[in-house]
Amino acid sequence: MWKRSGFGSVGNREEVTLHKEPRQSCKIHKQRSEVPRCPFPGCPNGTEAGFIVGRPPITTDGDPRWYFERLRWPEVNGRYTYSWWTTDSLLIGQVEDVVLDSLRADHIVNDHLIDPNERFYHYTNVDALLGLLSSKSIWLSDYGFLNDSTEVAYGYNVASTILADLELPYWSSSTDIKRPDQPNFAEMARREQSSLSVRPMIASFTTEPDDLSQWRAYGNVCVGVRAHSVVNTLLNDAMFCPVIYDEQSQRTVFEKFFKFRNFAFNHDADHYSYRDIEKRYLDDQALLLRLASMMKHSSFSPESEIRAAYFHPTGSYLDNGEPIVRYRSRNDLVIPYVSSSDLKNFSHQKEVIVESIKIGPHPQSRLLKSGIERMIADTGADYIAVDVSEIPYRP
Ligand SMILES: [Zn+2]
Repeated sequence: MWKRSGFGSVGNREEVTLHKEPRQSCKIHKQRSEVPRCPFPGCPNGTEAGFIVGRPPITTDGDPRWYFERLRWPEVNGRYTYSWWTTDSLLIGQVEDVVLDSLRADHIVNDHLIDPNERFYHYTNVDALLGLLSSKSIWLSDYGFLNDSTEVAYGYNVASTILADLELPYWSSSTDIKRPDQPNFAEMARREQSSLSVRPMIASFTTEPDDLSQWRAYGNVCVGVRAHSVVNTLLNDAMFCPVIYDEQSQRTVFEKFFKFRNFAFNHDADHYSYRDIEKRYLDDQALLLRLASMMKHSSFSPESEIRAAYFHPTGSYLDNGEPIVRYRSRNDLVIPYVSSSDLKNFSHQKEVIVESIKIGPHPQSRLLKSGIERMIADTGADYIAVDVSEIPYRP
């Protein structure tokens, strides 16, 4: 169904050798692409050509060429963002990269700014601490079972408010068709507890090493790790970035998301059969979930949370046939989780290195400390510094 367009009038093209993997060619605009030129016009790292003819990095039989066209996406505040569009692919596949790169350029998603040597803290209970030390892995819990169960619902609420305020052009003039570029929030809320095809699995960190509200909310121990130790443990497609608490930033996130998605939809509807793309758009809600899971209400901002989120396809199995999702108990509930050590098959992660353990305000904090010290001495992990919170215990 694809109509190859634009290549009749070629004057303005450049031939380049492509990167093997999408890479950032420009520190100003952040867009990643196989094309080694920034797609923003007038950028010193860019090109004047509107079309790119790409040679693969390694020449193979037939010496194929890939074709890219510079695309202009309408942005918030009347601005535009740009990308290289592979001219024989649906644009919906590019929405995620364009949204995230544009949020990085605006410093709203700042996963690229985290200092690898910065120390982060993970508040948890004793059971989870023992699991973490013995498996040297991070446990990421299903977001439907987090302490604050309204979390993702909060993000969806922000999203639906923003959507209601936006006037988005629509490809079809017919008003009785459900708009596939717009999510069905009621349906998503219904599926939230169990039946999504992708489940966000989350582990929370913070920059606060000794914080009473987090002791109360999450448990009696606080584990210190370096950022690089967490990042190396996670899969490449996991996110590791500060939670977005600021309402203006949350607004910008969803405005970009809906505008870019709407642009992609209208573009795809022009180039392909409506029936094919309608289903693709209705089925593809993963990015919305991803963005919603990075937001919390501003009243939580003192937690300064850095969130690791991995988006887990439901029903996946390990090589030995066991399901990847495991279950543990917390406060007499059953919590589904994945362990980063089980995801090893899919990437090159390393073990997580714990550097410190702090014991929270607790009636038997000395006894808890001495048990932990015995254990780490016996297991050869006595490089871990153990101490007790400065906050006095109050019953
Ligand atoms: Zn640039």
